[in-house]
Amino acid sequence: MVLKIGLLGLQGAIEEHEVAVMNAGRTLGLEVQVSRVTLPEQLEGLDGIILPGGESTAMIKQGTRSGLLPKLNSMLAQNFPAFGTCAGAILLSKKVRRTEDSPVTQGAFPFLDIEILRNGYGSQRDSFSTDLMIKGFEEPFEGVFIRAPIISEPGTSEVLASTRGYPVFVRSGKIMVTTFHPELTEDTRIHSLFLKSIIE
Ligand code: GLN
Repeated sequence: MVLKIGLLGLQGAIEEHEVAVMNAGRTLGLEVQVSRVTLPEQLEGLDGIILPGGESTAMIKQGTRSGLLPKLNSMLAQNFPAFGTCAGAILLSKKVRRTEDSPVTQGAFPFLDIEILRNGYGSQRDSFSTDLMIKGFEEPFEGVFIRAPIISEPGTSEVLASTRGYPVFVRSGKIMVTTFHPELTEDTRIHSLFLKSIIE
C-alpha cells in the first residue's frame, strides 16, 4: 500500500514537511509518496494533506484564485485527513481573530472547532522554542514557534500538548494541528502520528 500525501504548496515552509513525512514513512515501514498541491486536480487520489506554515492570508488569496480551496473544502467536509502547522492551523479553525479585540472570522476550512488568535505570542522577535510534553509520547518534543497563533479555545477538540497556558497541539476526527513547526526538527514522531491516523 502506498500512502499518497499532498502538501499544500501555495506558500511557506514546504520542503521540510516533505522530508519529515518521507522519513516518518520510512520509520513506520510505510511507502509514502509526497506531491505538491497547487491546483484542484492535484487533490485527486490523495490519502491526506499537510497544510504548512507561512502566511495564511497569502495562501487564501492564491488558493481561491486557482479553485483549489473550494475543492479541498468539500473534501475536508467528508472527513479527508489533514495536518495543519501554524498558518495551516489557522486555515482549519472555525474561529479566527487577528487581534484580541478584532471580530471573529472563519478559517478557509472551518472544520476544527477551535478559536485561534493570529500572532498570539507577539511578533517575530517573540518566536521561541521549548520542550513539549505530548500525550502518548515518552520523550519531550522540541516545539519551534514562529509568529505562532494561540489556540485561545480548544472547543470540542482533544488537546495533545499545551505550553504557557495554551493548547499547542489539538486534534478532532481526522484533523490535527500544531501551532509550532515539527518539520523544523529532525523528530518525525508527529508526522508519524498523522500517517498512522490515516491508516487506522
Ligand atoms: N503569522 C502567520 C499567520 O498569521 C503564521 C506564521 C507561521 O505559519 N509560521 O498566517
